[in-house]
Amino acid sequence: MTSVAAYAAPAAKAPLERTTIERRAVGEHDVLIDIKYAGICHSDIHQVREGWGEAIFPMVPGHEIAGVVCKAGPGVTRFAVGDRVGVGCMVDSCRECDNCRAGLEQYCTGGNVMTYNGVGKDGRPTYGGYSEKIVVDENFVVRVPDGLALDEAAPLLCAGITTYSPLRHWQAGPGKKVAVVGLGGLGHMAVKLAHALGAEVTVLSQSLRKKDDGLRLGADHYHATSDPETFRALAGRFDLIVSTVSAPLDFGAYLSLLRTDGALVNVGAPEEPVSLNLFSVIGGRKTLAGSSIGGIRETQEMLDFCAAHGIGADIEVIRADQVNEAYERVLASDVRYRFVIDAATI
Ligand SMILES: [Zn+2]
Ligand SMILES: [Zn+2]
Repeated sequence: MTSVAAYAAPAAKAPLERTTIERRAVGEHDVLIDIKYAGICHSDIHQVREGWGEAIFPMVPGHEIAGVVCKAGPGVTRFAVGDRVGVGCMVDSCRECDNCRAGLEQYCTGGNVMTYNGVGKDGRPTYGGYSEKIVVDENFVVRVPDGLALDEAAPLLCAGITTYSPLRHWQAGPGKKVAVVGLGGLGHMAVKLAHALGAEVTVLSQSLRKKDDGLRLGADHYHATSDPETFRALAGRFDLIVSTVSAPLDFGAYLSLLRTDGALVNVGAPEEPVSLNLFSVIGGRKTLAGSSIGGIRETQEMLDFCAAHGIGADIEVIRADQVNEAYERVLASDVRYRFVIDAATI
């Protein structure tokens, strides 16, 4: 076991503070990663505040981790000391179910292990990326290509893969019209990725406040959803809509923007159940779907794609002692577009 410094919430809704945690000894197939940067995801805040139900405390959040391998177990074959690597939302899975065998570890039916607020196969709670170092099985580690800066790469491990996976699954590409709902941490990545995949991209945001940003990030069009004219003008337009917002949407209104066989895919979710008139999907054979992060193989594919297209996240690097203030700013949508903790300040 190794003691490392970390930022943790000692109890639900409590501010994060500097503390010390134990990392397990580096096992046969493990790598020890010297964390350089950790992104702040909105879901970190949900979990610290128990917005998604009972959580494990103390909690060290962080599932957008970029760093450098500083030790490798004797059985490690894919990584060596000095390699630039990333860790996302999962650090293990059952590895035996149909989904794991298909590279869809995020949908593991045998129980996957979340990077933090989870319980590892050793029965101990998992602690995330707001820390100096982490020990992870090499099968849940991905390589950060040389062309990507580690700070801009960190948010790709959650925000990047969460938007890349549905864009690929629903075949965003040349000739396809894709709408992105919401221009936050996830939305700004969805715009960059859909544009790089060759799709025609439209941002649907509450107001036109971030229009200049949206166009700079790669959107071809930008519309305010607070304007009822938007829904009239864009009726039947899109092949794919990716909703990144967790506020409740008028799903019927958004489904009316799809063409025949179009899909509305949710990567954000409101806390309350939604109601829907099913004629919204019956007419036009439409799909209302969801999508969760991506598998390990696809996460590597996403990083390679981002390196090939020069895509990183738009970030604001902060010191670890600014994390509580950063949480308040995330809740106020006052970040363009991702906070990243400089782990050297922990
Ligand atoms: Zn996340
Ligand atoms: Zn599994």
